[in-house]
Amino acid sequence: MCGDFMPALLFEGVLRIRVKDSVFYACGYCGLVYESKDVAMKCAEFCKKHGGCSIEIERMSIGRIEPLSFRLTRIKP
Ligand SMILES: [Zn+2]
Repeated sequence: MCGDFMPALLFEGVLRIRVKDSVFYACGYCGLVYESKDVAMKCAEFCKKHGGCSIEIERMSIGRIEPLSFRLTRIKP
């Protein structure tokens, strides 16, 4: 997958992204992108629980975005 994406909404650990006229769903933990929201939610659930991807689910992915980091890096103490 290529092109700019617009993150739109995060729900249940899943990020809804738009690439041109298509909508995809990315797992907020590993960044794998799926056409189906249900699969993306399964991936997010699995990643959250096991800290890694299921090969079965990963197989259905159509691409990957940079995994999201919600960590705050402080630049001032
Ligand atoms: Zn995942």
